[in-house]
Amino acid sequence: MTSDREESLRSVVVVGGGLGGAQTVAALRAQGFDGRVTLLGAEGRPPYDRPPLSKELFERDAPADLVHEMGIDVRALADDVRATDPARALEVGPDGVSVATSSGTVEADAVVLAVGSRPVVPPGWEHASLLHTWDDAARLRARLTPGTRLVSVGAGWIGAEVAGVATKAGCEVVVVEALDVPLERQLGADVGQHLAPWYAGAGVELRLGEAVTAIRGDDDGAGGATVELASGAALHGDVVLAAVGARPATDWLRGTLPMDARGSLAGDAVGRVAPRVYAVGDCVTRHGTVYGDVPGGHWSAALHDPEGTVRALLADLSAGAAGDPAPGHAPYVFSQQLGHDLALFGTPSPFDEVVLRGLPGHDDGWAALYLDDDDEEVRDGRRLARLRAVLVVDRHREVGALRRLLRAGLPLVDVAAAADVTRPLKDAVVPVG
Ligand SMILES: Cc1cc2nc3c(=O)[nH]c(=O)nc-3n(C[C@H](O)[C@H](O)[C@H](O)COP(=O)(O)OP(=O)(O)OC[C@H]3O[C@@H](n4cnc5c(N)ncnc54)[C@H](O)[C@@H]3O)c2cc1C
Repeated sequence: MTSDREESLRSVVVVGGGLGGAQTVAALRAQGFDGRVTLLGAEGRPPYDRPPLSKELFERDAPADLVHEMGIDVRALADDVRATDPARALEVGPDGVSVATSSGTVEADAVVLAVGSRPVVPPGWEHASLLHTWDDAARLRARLTPGTRLVSVGAGWIGAEVAGVATKAGCEVVVVEALDVPLERQLGADVGQHLAPWYAGAGVELRLGEAVTAIRGDDDGAGGATVELASGAALHGDVVLAAVGARPATDWLRGTLPMDARGSLAGDAVGRVAPRVYAVGDCVTRHGTVYGDVPGGHWSAALHDPEGTVRALLADLSAGAAGDPAPGHAPYVFSQQLGHDLALFGTPSPFDEVVLRGLPGHDDGWAALYLDDDDEEVRDGRRLARLRAVLVVDRHREVGALRRLLRAGLPLVDVAAAADVTRPLKDAVVPVG
């Protein structure tokens, strides 16, 4: 495979120059790897943080560069940083990997895939704007001047965040959502329904249960479009944003590596996908013993996972011990939308029982506890159930405690005590044994 084994013997190629890629490069150096590191990117700019693209859409005039945000300078850490040399194909052999790019081939001992995701664009929606990259944000910001009418398709994380900041910036905003409540897929209908009033509260019109059938661009070339709905109604927007989810950017790996129907690579708990092939961040679903299959798609995985992945990679390549297990952390998503702060820990299942802690709409915030009632029992007259996930809304002070609580696994809780907002959640945990 390689013409020069000496040179490629201690080398890693990292594909994807976002948060996961940058953290991988940093972890390689922090864990003492002194071989050759190549970083391949596709966006033509240094790694930056994406969450501010929506939350600070109108405030930023430059990307949130990871050198300033987190002190990660890939140019100082990697030997070869190619900001615009996307990988096109991967070949995995017994002695190494070979990554074909537009400019040639990079050979290395191992590859870490950190290619992130791409927004979903249904066929015929090419007139819609997207928000995934800094260039998307710059274009959107330029068009969302006060008085502009924005139609956002999708009341998911990004649709909600953009709706909130755009209405604050003086735009008229309508959000169209095919499902019956916001974030139904992520939080379930019982919990998502409590988010619906936030839209009117922020001055945004929310149209639920309205599937979009087509988006037709205006003929005048000004960028406006008409959104046609299954009900027969049509909505005109000066700007139409498609915010209907994202899929792993792994098309180029189809047939080479195991992946699910969404294109998410199948990794083990530390991101091993195949011998010499590892993956971090949005592009991989990790299978672990505590949380089962955890798809990427959120910032915290791209931030934390590389450390354990690199530890495994270095141990595997040096045929050393398996290395310390990655520090445990529960899957975590945060969002700031329509004047509210959300933190979701764990992975809710549609079959969970939901118990509220505090009252939605109360100034003091609230939480939704997702309980796995398969694992329910009554002990000394108390109902106990396994806490699978928690959504915390506007209760910053509970976030740190929850992170610690769920780090070690899914605790058994006394359901009545957990629902009592006057008591710390940790007091509801039933000690093991
Ligand atoms: C607007 C917005 C707001 C968000 N807000 C939140 C939030 O509030 N909370 C939260 O938890 N998450 C949020 N996220 C998600 C979070 O930003 C991502 O989970 C995180 O960026 C994933 O990091 P990553 O490194 O896996 O992928 P990315 O950040 O997508 O980086 C992947 C990089 O790889 C490049 N690439 C792709 N294919 C190739 C290839 N073949 N070769 C080379 N390079 C390639 C891409 O161009 C990209 O630069 C948000 C995302 C967006 C878009």
